Amino acid sequence: MKKNKHLLPILGESVLQKAEIIYKQNGYFTDTILQELHSVYSTSLEQALDILDKTKVIQYYARDSKRTLYLIGKGDKQLRLFEDINFCFCETFRKDVLESGDKIMCEHVLGVKLAKITKGFVKEEMSDLYFVESLKIMSETLC
Ligand SMILES: [Zn+2]
Repeated sequence: MKKNKHLLPILGESVLQKAEIIYKQNGYFTDTILQELHSVYSTSLEQALDILDKTKVIQYYARDSKRTLYLIGKGDKQLRLFEDINFCFCETFRKDVLESGDKIMCEHVLGVKLAKITKGFVKEEMSDLYFVESLKIMSETLC
């Protein structure tokens, strides 16, 4: 069956909301919800779970502006993501999300969403100045 590209993001969001409720009730993701997540996110789900298993997600929280940034992955595969914005600097995002539209989000954006549901992240405060510096580094990598 061909996936409907317009409905998929809506479906994806509702499956994530359901996953959050199930995680709160059980303390883990049940097989059923993992299957539902997989039917929408396919390989991104496995990769996201793998990243969460092997590395930690860091949430940077700017004290004054209350803005947040997430850091996911490790080494040269470490990526910074904005809170609740479906955007990533990785190859998968560029090819499979932006160009072909085969995926709703990459494994990093999904990983952060899952980490938020499971509270599987480390919280670190930063000054607003440092936060702005981090944004500058991010925008420079775009050029
Ligand atoms: Zn990514």
